[in-house]
Amino acid sequence: MPQHAQNAPVCRDCDGFSTVAITTGTRHRDGTRATLRVTCPACKGTGTARHARTQEVHA
Ligand SMILES: [Zn+2]
Repeated sequence: MPQHAQNAPVCRDCDGFSTVAITTGTRHRDGTRATLRVTCPACKGTGTARHARTQEVHA
């Protein structure tokens, strides 16, 4: 088969972007920006769908 095989299937939920940093707009006392890190709940931050059978969504 001339198909390119993927070593690890990419997570469908986050497309491989398992961790996203969100800039909140607030700043720390030293001037750096405060960011929130959100990890994909489906792949638990791995970016692959290997263990993504169970999906938990927390509101
Ligand atoms: Zn994911």
